[in-house]
Amino acid sequence: MVETLSIAVIGAPGVGKTSIIRQFIYNDFSEVYTPTRSRYVYRPSVILNGNMYELKVLDVPPISSFPSSSSQEWLDLRCRGVRNANAYILVYDICCVESFEYVKMIRQQIVEHREGSSSEVPILVVGNKRDQQRQRFMPRRAVSVLVKKTWKCGYVECSAKFNWHVVLLFKELLGIAVARGMRQNHTSIRLQGALQRNRCTIM
Ligand code: GDP
Ligand code: MG
Repeated sequence: MVETLSIAVIGAPGVGKTSIIRQFIYNDFSEVYTPTRSRYVYRPSVILNGNMYELKVLDVPPISSFPSSSSQEWLDLRCRGVRNANAYILVYDICCVESFEYVKMIRQQIVEHREGSSSEVPILVVGNKRDQQRQRFMPRRAVSVLVKKTWKCGYVECSAKFNWHVVLLFKELLGIAVARGMRQNHTSIRLQGALQRNRCTIM
C-alpha cells in the first residue's frame, strides 16, 4: 500500500515556494517572478528508504493567516487542505526579515489552531536564496538554534536557483513525518538521485 502524505508549502510572496517545488519535481527554475494566484497541487511520488510515498504538495498562495477553523478554510479557496496537511514547509528568504516574521506567525498559528495532538505536526522551516547569503539578516546558526530549540521545528537552508539542498529538505521533512506517523525504520536514508526526472525521486 502506498502512503499519501500531504505537505502544505507556506510563506510570504516571492520567497521561492513555487521555485523550490518546481525544482524538486521538474528540475526547472525561472528567474522571472510569476506570482502564484491560486492554490496548486503537485503529486510527485518519492522513494525513501525503499518505501514509496505519494506526496500531495500544496503550493499555497499568499494567505494573511493560517485558517483558524474548518469553516474558514472552506470559505477561502486558497486555504483548502491547509488545516489538515500531514506536514508543513514554511519558507522564508534569508535576506528578508519580514518573510521570517511571517513564518514565525504562521508557525504559532499552526500550533494554536490545530486541535490536540495534531498540533505536533511536522514543520520544517526553510531559509531559501542561500546563494545570496551575503545579504542575510541573521547568522545561520542563530536562526537554526531559534527554530530547532525554541520552535521545535526542523531547519534547512537551500537555494532553489542552484538546486542546492532542495531534495535534502524534502528528505528531511519526510524523514520526520515517517518517524512520527508511520513508525518505520529509516536508519539508512541515502540520496540516490532521481529515478524519473519529473515524477519520482529516490531519496
Ligand atoms: P513564491 O512567491 O514564494 O512562490 O516565489 P517564486 O518561487 O515565484 O520566486 C520568486 C522570485 O525569487 C523569482 O523571481 C525566482 O526566480 C526567485 N528565486 C526563487 N528561489 C531563488 C533562489 O534560491 N535564489 C535566488 N537568487 N532567487 C530565487
Ligand atoms: Mg508561488
